[in-house]
Amino acid sequence: MLKTLLETPAEYLKGIGPQRALWLRAEYGIKNYEDLLSFYPRRYIDRSRFYRISELSAAQAEVQVTGRITFAEMVHRNKRKRLVAQLEDQSGKIDLIWFQKADIIERWLPRDLPVVVFGRLSFFQGHPQMTHPEIEPLEHYHSCTPMPLQPVWTISELLQKKGIHQSFFIKTFRELLRLFKGRIHEIFPENIMINCGLISREEAFYQIYFPESLGKLSKAQYRLKFEELFFLQLALLMRRYHHKKIHSGYPFTNVGSYLQRFYRECLPFSLTQAQKRVLKEIRHDLGQNVQMNRLLQGDVGSGKTLVALMAMLIALDNGFQASLMAPTEILAAQHYQMLSGLLSPLGIIVAFLTGSTSRTDRRQLHYGLREGRILILVGTHALIEDEVVFKNLGLAVIDEQHRFGVIQRARLWKKNERPPHILLMTATPIPRTLSMTLYGDLDVSIIDELPPGRKAIKTLHRYEHARLEVFGFIRDQIAHGRQVYIVYPLIEESEKVDYKNLMEGYESISRAFPLPEYRIGILHGKMSSVEKSAEMNRFIKGETQIMVSTTVIEVGVDVQNATVMLIENAELFGLSQLHQLRGRVGRGARQSYCLLMSDEKISNEARARIEVICRSNNGFEIAEEDLRLRGPGDLMGTKQSGLLDLRIANIFKDSCVLGKAREQVMILTREDPELLASNHHKILEMFQKKYREKLSWGKIG
Ligand code: ADP
Ligand code: MG
Repeated sequence: MLKTLLETPAEYLKGIGPQRALWLRAEYGIKNYEDLLSFYPRRYIDRSRFYRISELSAAQAEVQVTGRITFAEMVHRNKRKRLVAQLEDQSGKIDLIWFQKADIIERWLPRDLPVVVFGRLSFFQGHPQMTHPEIEPLEHYHSCTPMPLQPVWTISELLQKKGIHQSFFIKTFRELLRLFKGRIHEIFPENIMINCGLISREEAFYQIYFPESLGKLSKAQYRLKFEELFFLQLALLMRRYHHKKIHSGYPFTNVGSYLQRFYRECLPFSLTQAQKRVLKEIRHDLGQNVQMNRLLQGDVGSGKTLVALMAMLIALDNGFQASLMAPTEILAAQHYQMLSGLLSPLGIIVAFLTGSTSRTDRRQLHYGLREGRILILVGTHALIEDEVVFKNLGLAVIDEQHRFGVIQRARLWKKNERPPHILLMTATPIPRTLSMTLYGDLDVSIIDELPPGRKAIKTLHRYEHARLEVFGFIRDQIAHGRQVYIVYPLIEESEKVDYKNLMEGYESISRAFPLPEYRIGILHGKMSSVEKSAEMNRFIKGETQIMVSTTVIEVGVDVQNATVMLIENAELFGLSQLHQLRGRVGRGARQSYCLLMSDEKISNEARARIEVICRSNNGFEIAEEDLRLRGPGDLMGTKQSGLLDLRIANIFKDSCVLGKAREQVMILTREDPELLASNHHKILEMFQKKYREKLSWGKIG
């Protein structure tokens, strides 16, 4: 395509002009011809079809009928007048009404000859009517071959007020396409065109605006969606390619004594097949001369921590240090206890760092890290601070990675001259469509198996009136030596209000479960970290049987004896949060329960979420449902990924096209990663243009 033509400001197009150009820019960000070219219609009205009046129903929006005007009359009421006419076909009658320009229309209205009427249908007292329909003689209609599928654009309120209607866009795009005739060149090489059954670029642009038939429209949509997703995938895979080219890693070729001794002497159970497979993938990565950037996905309780630990031992065996960062102090503390417990027989020194580590401890810790005496550092985001300097950090693990911002993660990269290998872990599974896009530049490992002996958690929804029964059940579990979590939601953004909610809940729980028989702990965001870990430890040791908490326990907490998770106001939680919270129980061999309390009156969406959670224990399934219920717009990370800039494709609905585009991009980048071949020249050009600004997207990892 001609560059200058594409870059011509929109105002120069016949029919637009400076004023309308300003509006288009303000409302849709359209600056030039190129922006206009991808301002696709939102939908199409099928004008190839005529309805019989008797067929019309409230379910239809815009319809087209033919018949004769049998009657028309000007009606005056309250100083306002309107024109009411009646159209008849063999099957029935419909009212046509005009409020504006009624006089002119009355004079012009073709009576007693066949006409085509098109407009938005409504019903008044069971009778069909149209307000301000389009109307023209049937003869005329046939002679000028109207559009079989009429494009409809989204017209903002402002533009409507300014008198811009569909007809403006129709004229504009006719003119635009006339200008571009013969100037829209193909960008894909022949093999891609053939493999994917694509129509030409030029044809696609014609058919997307003025489709000749439904079949041609769908081919045009396919072509343009494919193209859009192709470039999205290309951006992701190119980034991965360049990443690997630029960032050579430390090759960990030794499988040394730490890992072997741990495996033989310290491993408390045998690994699941999935853990073994994933560990192998990680070992393979670490052995290469390339920095690892791997995402480990595994449902709650699938045993990711152990995999991380063993990966860290590989780093240690090669003379490097390792770190593990967790999003909350509670979780970090728990990791620290587990790691130091398991690794002390091997004489490995593990240190713990959070925001509340004292100054003196910190000084010692900094020294130990720089010296290389401390081999593993566990902590919260405190460990990415600049004063924390390692002798040689070889592997950085980030648990529950979605809780960290891109910038925080990127800072880990800078801990060495060469960036350390990065292992990201998440229990919030990412639906396949998203993992191909959002995380398309990471390597992904999946643990799809739970350790043996786990019983599926039973999840039940209960209303307030069943509270006594629910409490009875909890007493029974406690009588059998089990422990219970009771979680209150974050209702307001204000900590004060939430705190009050939690405290009220705590009081009513204390009345229902009185001392001395029952001991209750409490956890919330306002407590100091010392208080928090003291409370958590009492629960871990079994000194308290009930833990009343806000969502601070959402991630990671692992107390195998806890078998009941009671969630108050479950209707206020999102799906992945419910799944995470539920994952706090069912971590041992005992039957566990998740009880969702809610009001009787809850929204349909909330009901849908609760139904999904009650039905499924599978994190991947839940994630897909979550995406379906919420749409990708709300998902973490979608903003920076460019997924929301898509003009025609929808990564959720068009996952098939996405898969196809990804496949082609993989073939292309494998054969010609720099896009140097002459038949890839157009792709390169387009790519550079499209992603010039975006290539610096925040690094993940
Ligand atoms: P998550 O993947 O949710 O982080 P964890 O790593 O916390 O899961 O592991 C959950 C629980 O399962 C822990 O108590 C852990 O000790 C245990 N576990 C991990 N791997 C195995 C295994 N192979 N066999 C039995 N239990 C295991
Ligand atoms: Mg975990």
